[in-house]
Amino acid sequence: MNFFLSPSFFRRARGCALAGLAAACFAAPVLAQVPAPPNASAGAVAPDMVAQRVSPSAWYVEGLSALGSGANQNFISNAAFVVTANGVVVIDALGSPALAERLMAEIRKVTPLPVTHVIVTHYHADHIYGLQAFKAKGARIVAHRAALEYLSSETARLRLDVSRKDLAPWIDDKTRLVPADEWIDGPTELTIGGVRFKLQPVGPSHTPEDLVIYMPHEKVLFAGDLVFRSRIPFVGQADSGHWIKALQTLLAFDTSVIVPGHGPLSNEARKDTELTRDYLVYLRTSMGQAAKNMTPFEEAYQAADWTAFEHLPLFRVANRMNAYNTYLLMEREAP
Ligand SMILES: [Zn+2]
Repeated sequence: MNFFLSPSFFRRARGCALAGLAAACFAAPVLAQVPAPPNASAGAVAPDMVAQRVSPSAWYVEGLSALGSGANQNFISNAAFVVTANGVVVIDALGSPALAERLMAEIRKVTPLPVTHVIVTHYHADHIYGLQAFKAKGARIVAHRAALEYLSSETARLRLDVSRKDLAPWIDDKTRLVPADEWIDGPTELTIGGVRFKLQPVGPSHTPEDLVIYMPHEKVLFAGDLVFRSRIPFVGQADSGHWIKALQTLLAFDTSVIVPGHGPLSNEARKDTELTRDYLVYLRTSMGQAAKNMTPFEEAYQAADWTAFEHLPLFRVANRMNAYNTYLLMEREAP
């Protein structure tokens, strides 16, 4: 995967700032311009899925750091589940119905209880194409109302069309976009089987419908694609101003463990959240000043002091593009 694509390429993407790989959540029109991965599903070995313990009642499965393909069943994002006294609450539905079935098999190894709820952190394909499998088993789907606009959009329809080709046979004519049974509009508390969940809208950051789920009893935060662990994020077209505010909101939770939408758990919740925030703040400060002074990007980039971040993983891959996207954003935001 070549990350040094033209800025205009990135401008066309529907902000997948926070995915494990920037291109993992690109919308259909963009995917159409990327050479389709070979359909390697025939004879390919599906990636392992093993539920790992997060806390006394929570587990998660970790997707690959890769682009979705027929070979990997689109297993490129994480999902989590919490076992309550009455049933299981799943957070995010994974990237294909087959993966959702595999997740249910993992859940059955832990408990015979049914999945009663699926809470969706955001409606990017790799997090929601598995929804129909849970819905078929009677689970109630909960998400933020702002996803409705995307669900009825041409972008979502085109994306699904492209996925039917690129992710065959895992995404096919039977795969559909599943709306929530319960749309929430603001901070919401759910108590399910005696376990309290705080649902906190934090969009528009990564997407308009961003939702994080906090389980106070065990201090676990399911953060969707908002927090990165010890690495440089892909900023893409995200609204970094709102994203910073969202991270401030997350810092108010007394979190011990973060389950991110991609990649491994964070046991250093505050440190990782602050790192993501500080990086975004620095991007906006340095590039904002340059945009205001009409300093050309290249000059501003060379002049910026990156020493606080250049040791971090993915700096070389992502930083220059992040800075450029932020420079353009700050030009647009300038009075
Ligand atoms: Zn994602």
